[in-house]
Amino acid sequence: MKTEPKLYIISGPSGAGKSTLCKKLLEQYPNIIFSVSYTTRKPRSFETEGKNYFFINQEEFVLGIKKNRWLEWAKVHDNYYGTCANFVKSLLDKKNNILFDIDTQGAEQIIRTYSDAVTIFIMPPSGAELENRLKKRKTDNIKIIKKRLGNAVKEIEKKNMYSYVIINDNLDKAFEKLCAIINKKKKV
Ligand code: 5GP
Repeated sequence: MKTEPKLYIISGPSGAGKSTLCKKLLEQYPNIIFSVSYTTRKPRSFETEGKNYFFINQEEFVLGIKKNRWLEWAKVHDNYYGTCANFVKSLLDKKNNILFDIDTQGAEQIIRTYSDAVTIFIMPPSGAELENRLKKRKTDNIKIIKKRLGNAVKEIEKKNMYSYVIINDNLDKAFEKLCAIINKKKKV
């Protein structure tokens, strides 16, 4: 018999290494399904529709708000991001564990509905290192990088609402810590 499914929420500033850690986690734990968000942000060159995000326009997103399509949604760095309520419900009905890579506003909303969600905040080792990583990945222009760094401060202020905080100064060590949390929470 399958046990109750778990919800894992991972947040942290842009450039903290969330996406990489989530990718590794999904490879290691095939019984955790990624909640693919909807966004009005333009796709990056390496991103795939339906895998990284569902890319939609603002009109469709706002209509989704009116129709209660989103379990949670937020405006992050000037774009809308949201989680499809039906998708989450159908995964939970099938007893799947779910991984969310969402910001702190979204995490607050999900916790309101699913109070036993496991929440993990990924911290960059320092502000300077965060800036370095954002510049190095070359996905955003300097104006957007500045915005993301400004938002990082606000995100970090919310870290205490999370059950776990992992400082990602070394990817392998951070991943080990993440796995330890998952293994502890997993009922087998
Ligand atoms: P990016 O544009 O770098 O992919 O993501 C920007 C931020 O939006 C990240 O902090 C990411 O966790 C967050 N995000 C991605 N999807 C969602 C979502 O569905 N809801 C919320 N609230 N935040 C999201």
